[in-house]
Amino acid sequence: MKLQVNAGRIEDTSAEAILLFHFKDETLGGLSKHVDEKLKGQIGAVLKNREFIGKAGQLYLVSINLEKIGIKRVILAGMGGRNEFTLDKLRGAASKGANYAKNLGLKHLAILHPLEAPVAIEETAAALTEGVMLGTYQYNKYHTEERSEIKTLDSVSIYTDVNKVKNIQKAVEFAETVCNATNLTRDLNNEPGNVGTPTYMAKMAEEAGKKHGFKVKVFGKNEIEGMKMHSFLSVAKGSVQEPKFVVMEYNGGGKDAIVLVGKGITFDSGGISIKPSRDMEKMKWDKSGACSVIGAMSAAAALKLPLHLIGLTPFTENLPSGSASKPGDVVYASNGTSIEIQNTDAEGRLVLADALVYAQKYKPKAVIDLATLTGACVVALGDVAAGLMGNDEKLIEKIRKASEKSGDKCWHLPLWKEYDEKIKSDIADIKNVGTPGGDAGAITAAMFLKRFVNYPWVHLDIAGTAWNDYEKPYLTKGATGFGVRLLIEMLRD
Ligand SMILES: [Zn+2]
Repeated sequence: MKLQVNAGRIEDTSAEAILLFHFKDETLGGLSKHVDEKLKGQIGAVLKNREFIGKAGQLYLVSINLEKIGIKRVILAGMGGRNEFTLDKLRGAASKGANYAKNLGLKHLAILHPLEAPVAIEETAAALTEGVMLGTYQYNKYHTEERSEIKTLDSVSIYTDVNKVKNIQKAVEFAETVCNATNLTRDLNNEPGNVGTPTYMAKMAEEAGKKHGFKVKVFGKNEIEGMKMHSFLSVAKGSVQEPKFVVMEYNGGGKDAIVLVGKGITFDSGGISIKPSRDMEKMKWDKSGACSVIGAMSAAAALKLPLHLIGLTPFTENLPSGSASKPGDVVYASNGTSIEIQNTDAEGRLVLADALVYAQKYKPKAVIDLATLTGACVVALGDVAAGLMGNDEKLIEKIRKASEKSGDKCWHLPLWKEYDEKIKSDIADIKNVGTPGGDAGAITAAMFLKRFVNYPWVHLDIAGTAWNDYEKPYLTKGATGFGVRLLIEMLRD
């Protein structure tokens, strides 16, 4: 999709429809009023009749048939009351309007920037770009039938005041890059397990590095063994697919390194502690954290952020077989910590442990890991927010703030030392599960990770937010790309 920002004269647009945002129960003002005058009051009439009042989520199509005016359709999108305005509401309205145009089979949409929204114009410009680009995302790589029926918007022109064009242009371009990276993350993450193997994912990381300008080094099984990452390797033992440890590096000039770590289980059956068959197909999304790290690296490099950024993604499958790890096995992580594997389905923390130890060599000023780590986090926060935990209050606060702005919601959970008792093992230093009932499971998983960090660190449990089981206002079913917008929002500061 091509995006462009134009000044004034929306009545001269060649677009097949104009999308116009409207606050509930308000009259037309500014550019909207100007458009209505050109359209001989046809929008005003709809408002007057209260056929459309601007409720959040409301859509209304006004068909235009006027001589000497090229505009054929106006799509009105409700944003709800001005006092209850949020950027997420605008994202939702932009997505709804763009999808409506797309589903009509239109190719070119003009959007009137909502100048009168009660936040900075750069923020609304970014939010409407996100609504359009994330909301019209489709994953149809594997559909072979009726491909000609697939509808897409080719271009979107955003219209604004002439003196605002420059700022809005900048905000739109930034958001566009972040959305492209988010949609790349969704593409990678939506790959089924038989295609999206560790080898494939490593190749995709290399391609992203070439395209956006960051270095990628891929370590295979022998090298991983050489680094004594036996915690990571214990997960890979049951699979015929070779595990890959991918190290990405982008240096835009920052002094101290920031490291992003992503869990990359390309399929998680649970191993010998096998999962119930229901919903098991969703475990192709257990690589969400790693895909978000590839996306965030791509966006940071494309935006040329002045940072030294490292991305670490351990990729493997978790499958049962004669060579798989067994409950009760003891392994040593690369820092020498002994781990009793009580449940082979708690494998995410096993692969992350070695990646977090590896991160120590950069003496990082911050490390952020993203992982679809625990069902317990989904019980606690559902599919609305990610669990946010860590050992550094400043870093936690930074992420929290970025989460509010970006729309990737996070909620802070404590890592008090009382929880540490729960991961003590009778025969090793620690075990990979907490209490048998799974109490505080999201936290005890983080307490496990905490054993492998010696730097400011935040852990994001994205098990509930990494994919949608149903349509959300601007995120379709499937992978959401959670974390890319959040990380870039935090890193741009
Ligand atoms: Zn698992």
